[in-house]
Amino acid sequence: MEVKLSQRNEKKVEEIVKILKSKDTFLITSHINIDGDAIGSELALYICLKKLNKKVQIINNDKIPSIFKFLPFSQKIKTYFMTGKKVNFDAGIILDSGSLERVGNVKEIIKKIPFIINIDHHLTNSNFGNINWINPYFSSSGEMMYFLCDKLNKIDRNQAICLYTSILYDTCGFVHRVNKYTMEIAKRLIDKKINPEKIAQKIFYEKSIKSVNLFKLALNTLKFDRKRKICIMKIPLEFYKKTKTNEEHTEGFVDFLISIKGVEVGILFKEKKNGTKVSMRSKGKIDVESVARKFDGGGHREAAGCFLENKKIDEVESLIMEELKWTEY
Ligand code: AMP
Ligand code: MN
Ligand code: MN
Repeated sequence: MEVKLSQRNEKKVEEIVKILKSKDTFLITSHINIDGDAIGSELALYICLKKLNKKVQIINNDKIPSIFKFLPFSQKIKTYFMTGKKVNFDAGIILDSGSLERVGNVKEIIKKIPFIINIDHHLTNSNFGNINWINPYFSSSGEMMYFLCDKLNKIDRNQAICLYTSILYDTCGFVHRVNKYTMEIAKRLIDKKINPEKIAQKIFYEKSIKSVNLFKLALNTLKFDRKRKICIMKIPLEFYKKTKTNEEHTEGFVDFLISIKGVEVGILFKEKKNGTKVSMRSKGKIDVESVARKFDGGGHREAAGCFLENKKIDEVESLIMEELKWTEY
């Protein structure tokens, strides 16, 4: 099957390729609470630029979650705390991040970079780059990165592992935002002799006992609303303490909520020291991105989030439920 970018997208890719070839030192980064799509995209691009003999660093706000450490070159990923702001780059490439604020403390480095390339598939993107390639029709940033990497040099097996991980992760195992083009790209990546079963097991089947213990506590908070169309779960700070866990151990919890028959929206409230993080998932009838956006968050129709600073978990629950009253289904 032929997969062809539209003229507009093709032009963007060409523009980005030109810039990448013309500059020498690059920063690659992505959003806070780094995820599989962001990491896979970063690494695939990192490999591309290394092949072109460029100087490249990947620096993120957060440490890489353990489940993604199987990815090739993942040990090259640094955090801002490891590098500090005393680093200089010709260009910064920001992937999978709807705004400059979302890169967290890496913004301190970005401020000094003269040229920014912004590549993203979120519905809400503030076009903060000197070049912006934004397209919400792609399943993942990894899918966009496939086209860019393909233009830069021949995609190798390591890159295929990274890109397949991005797509698999952001589609929640080929559930959300998939179409025949996404599947065709996944097929092409599998053709690079990667093991799709192994990657899926690494991402979805490696839950730690600690995470299960946290889930057991969280299950006690499960509540339904609006004739069981909305399902919510809460993780107050004390749950992390009791189970010696952190936010990393909540991976997959919100996806469980939406897996329940009849539930249209799943919402996970996670308390933090300085506020409450909200993760929302929808089967598609309700646009959770528009709800998240009301609280300065963002995402996609089926998966969105926001962070309410200095607000307690119960207050945030009331605010979100109030906002959801206006949604119809
Ligand atoms: P999460 O609930 O963290 O898994 O995020 C679901 C989707 O919403 C992802 O595409 C995130 O990038 C996006 N998202 C989450 N939190 C925010 C936020 N505070 N601002 C913008 N987008 C967000
Ligand atoms: Mn992401
Ligand atoms: Mn993404």
